[in-house]
Amino acid sequence: MKLGELNIWHVINVQLKRSGWERVDRYRYIESLRAICEAHPSMLLYRLDVPAIQQWIEHTFGRGLKRAYIRFSLRLLHDYRSGFKTVPVQLTLTCPYCNGKAHLKDSAQLYGGRSFGLAYICENHGKGCDSYVGIHQDDHMPLGRLANSELRKAKQRCHQVFDPIWKQNLLPRNKAYARIAEQMQIARSECHIGALDERLAQQFASAAQHLYRSLSSYHA
Ligand SMILES: [Zn+2]
Repeated sequence: MKLGELNIWHVINVQLKRSGWERVDRYRYIESLRAICEAHPSMLLYRLDVPAIQQWIEHTFGRGLKRAYIRFSLRLLHDYRSGFKTVPVQLTLTCPYCNGKAHLKDSAQLYGGRSFGLAYICENHGKGCDSYVGIHQDDHMPLGRLANSELRKAKQRCHQVFDPIWKQNLLPRNKAYARIAEQMQIARSECHIGALDERLAQQFASAAQHLYRSLSSYHA
């Protein structure tokens, strides 16, 4: 660590390793901790005032996954300083379709009794609402917004066209997201398949398809 500068990558990597977390969105933690550092440069170096930063978070960020990541990256920094392992999140999400609450539950109720681990499931699931969202296995962070079956299909389509770009090494995953964000004219930080709604998912899929075609003809 350089004097006068917090090494964000180091903090996140050490704390994820200490907590035994591999299957998480590391990039989003780094991005979130960077946002905190930019707003509170000296506080983080000399005296970590957690309540003051929490207050800033509540004033600055609306409800949603972005705020959850900012909050949780502060927790990672705090635990890094204290030498503790970080324990997984337990959020309460609000369903965008029926306004019900979604809690972390066993996914068996989604798959006819067969469990695939935990998921955030709307309390009205099976009673007129079918929304849920999967999680990152180690920190239990939701993969994105709660999705109904229509949005789940749209997101699957996004993965079908996007994943071959980085799986076939045409571009690293981050760069591919950045190129698509540019084309969609949205911020890179908003450009995650999990975060998209139906309309943006459609735009994403066609931008990804376009990118794949231009890259694969370039590499051919
Ligand atoms: Zn619902």
